[in-house]
Amino acid sequence: GGVDALTRAESLIALTPDYPEPGVLFRDVSPLLADGPALRAVIEELIRPFEGTYDIVAGIEARGFLLAGYAAALGGVGMLQIRKAGKLPRPAAAVSYELEYGTATIEAPGVLREGERVLLLDDVLATGGTLAAAQSLVTELGAVVAGSAVVLELTDLGGRAVVGDVHTVFTA
Ligand code: AMP
Repeated sequence: GGVDALTRAESLIALTPDYPEPGVLFRDVSPLLADGPALRAVIEELIRPFEGTYDIVAGIEARGFLLAGYAAALGGVGMLQIRKAGKLPRPAAAVSYELEYGTATIEAPGVLREGERVLLLDDVLATGGTLAAAQSLVTELGAVVAGSAVVLELTDLGGRAVVGDVHTVFTA
């Protein structure tokens, strides 16, 4: 059932030391994404607290796209792309944020209605910089953040303090 699949899903997140750089323990969701029942259980748990509270699902490039696509199909809602800078032909808003080394920028197309309620999804919450920027981006577009959810929260990195309320399926 769903609980068994969820338990198995957690074991399908592979630990990869020193990727993409020395000292980082990368959490690779590839095996989880490849497992149908595990993936279904994770998506259902990811969106469970938000039923009826959002109009559209946003995925943060790139693994967030896969989560958002599945969630949107399950919920019968549309999707918003939150992309790395330079990928969209006509970005409607952009937000820059600090990385450990340098800065990054995310952008979104101008497809939201005023006040539209957006559920933000990503795979991993680390320092929270990416998700916080995505929240700002939604606000800048004149929409509303209905909630934020990630598959895995890395609690030691303190992201929760940066992004505020976030629903997490697994913690490490
Ligand atoms: P942060 O902005 O620090 O919260 O980083 C979150 C973004 O970077 C997410 O889009 C994650 O996919 C990715 N990320 C950061 N740290 C890791 C990690 N240890 N394993 C996998 N993905 C990570």
